Amino acid sequence: MTTNRETGVVPPIVLNDGSLMPQLGFGVFQVPAEEVVDTVTAALRTGYRSIDTAAAYQNEEGTGRAIRQFGLPRDEVFVTTKLWNADQGYDSTLRAFDASLKRLGLEYLDLYLIHWPVPAADRFADTFRAFQRLAADGLVRSIGVSNFRVPDLERVIAETGQTPSVNQIELHPGLIQRELREYHAEHAIATEAWSPLGQGTLLGDPVVTRIAGEVDRTPAQVIIRWHLQLGNVVIPKSVTPARIEENFDVFGFELSAEQMAAVSGLDTGTRIGPDPETFAAGLEN
Ligand code: NAD
Repeated sequence: MTTNRETGVVPPIVLNDGSLMPQLGFGVFQVPAEEVVDTVTAALRTGYRSIDTAAAYQNEEGTGRAIRQFGLPRDEVFVTTKLWNADQGYDSTLRAFDASLKRLGLEYLDLYLIHWPVPAADRFADTFRAFQRLAADGLVRSIGVSNFRVPDLERVIAETGQTPSVNQIELHPGLIQRELREYHAEHAIATEAWSPLGQGTLLGDPVVTRIAGEVDRTPAQVIIRWHLQLGNVVIPKSVTPARIEENFDVFGFELSAEQMAAVSGLDTGTRIGPDPETFAAGLEN
């Protein structure tokens, strides 16, 4: 069976600003600061070339250290971090960005995301204007959002004149986000899936295990393959080296149309994470 390492690199997708982003990356949510250097190093050794962190994960420092120590040319690793809710607003965004870049120890970022819209705070348009400034200054290659709903996307586009390159949203077979994916496709916004494995909860599903048997792959590989064939950017997380490798070995097989439809049929519209309409952690005061 062909593995990804034999065939080369992860295929990139082209963002609406012309930048290339690997379609498969590695997420470090809930990876403790003391473990993150080893975990990111294992991911880079496996072949991942896109790493997704956030100020809120409190592991930017170790993530950056692992990337720098690994020693690849900077333009061979795609680094994403996210602006936390408490820092939304024009000036506070510029300050928070400086702090993130320092913690990462990098000269520039590939992708900066507004972590949550916090619609009630009504600061995401100003925040995105600060992102435009960072991009104009060459400090960030691509700017995007996370957890934005259609109305949030419509507002940010109308008020800043710029369409985000990426919207990173909760997306897995239990929550297939048809409406948002269609909106993204119409507006050339890349769909990036967080909790792509449903945080592991979907791996025992009988439909997934049936298909895994049919294609002689693991349930995690089936779900990651489903994301890739839908056109999503996907960033599974694991701290276990064997699983980090397993989740990367997803390019030597394909799901049929019937298998794709069967996985999409698991949609129940149920979230694992918070509701973007009301989530306002960091802004309670
Ligand atoms: P995930 O769906 O990637 O699931 C990770 C969990 O699944 C692991 O902790 C492990 O328990 C299990 N798992 C992983 N690979 C496995 C395998 N091969 N076999 C068996 N079990 C396996 O969930 P996640 O970590 O929540 O999401 C991935 C990334 O998305 C995060 O690390 C983070 O970067 C990002 N994220 C972003 C947001 C956001 O608000 N923007 C929110 C959550 C996560």
